[in-house]
Amino acid sequence: MSQLQPLTGQTVLVTGASGGIGAAIVERLSAEGARPVIHYGRDRQRAEALLGKLGGNSLIIQADLSRPDGAFALWRDALSAAGRIHAVVNNAGVRNEISIDADPADWRAAWQKEFRVNFFAAADLCKEALVHFKQHGGGRIVNMASRAGQRGYAADAMPYGATKAALTNLTKSIARSFGRDGVVAVSVAPGWVRTDMAEDFVARHGKEAAVGDIPIGEMAEPGEIAELVAFLLRPSQASVNGATFDVNGGSYIR
Ligand code: NAP
Repeated sequence: MSQLQPLTGQTVLVTGASGGIGAAIVERLSAEGARPVIHYGRDRQRAEALLGKLGGNSLIIQADLSRPDGAFALWRDALSAAGRIHAVVNNAGVRNEISIDADPADWRAAWQKEFRVNFFAAADLCKEALVHFKQHGGGRIVNMASRAGQRGYAADAMPYGATKAALTNLTKSIARSFGRDGVVAVSVAPGWVRTDMAEDFVARHGKEAAVGDIPIGEMAEPGEIAELVAFLLRPSQASVNGATFDVNGGSYIR
């Protein structure tokens, strides 16, 4: 295995690869020798543009993760297209705002949508991946959590923080339970990262609301997250398991 291509031979399913962080992860994995499986929800154009950039060594799968069977369909399609899958990056996510003054129906719908995409779909995919990994000698899971799940979150986006806290806890349970089967699982917990999700927040609340409490005074770039994820997927990192990797410019220090 080459020093520059430490992920050679690894097929990695990346959800939400049509978004800012997911696309950066796919590009980085590919550069390090992996075969990424690009998942997207609605944005076929961005997913296909990404596939085009990689020059063929990739696959592309659509699935709506807000549907109850979305993650199961994604796993089935990805497995039949790829054969063996060595790792999953649960990166797809949404961040909606809902006030305590909202109507009960809107409040309930917001919580349910957020949990469905950010947590239930990831849990379903973990379940399917764990069965596959156990049968094939192991695998890796990286779950994209958030600083919001660690320190609590804003009044108008409480569901988002709760989904990410749940995802971090799921990651720890997997790490404790399946290590003997050759499975490791970690979470990455970014603060703000410069993507559409962050730009949407800045458009609503202003940049100071995003970076004001970050000691280094800036958001992270998607490439920083991608570099870390690729590192965490290296087979040589045999002992990283269960940890949450904070990437927040010092805005939450544990
Ligand atoms: P983004 O640019 O908005 O991308 C979100 C991705 O999730 C897209 O690929 C989108 O696919 C996919 N997705 C959303 N709803 C979906 C659905 N119902 N079915 C299938 N796919 C769906 O966001 P990002 O900033 O890259 O965020 C990626 C991850 O990092 C998320 O889990 C987010 O919570 C987390 N995170 C982000 C930040 C930040 O500041 N940006 C900070 C901490 C954590 P389509 O567009 O194709 O539908």
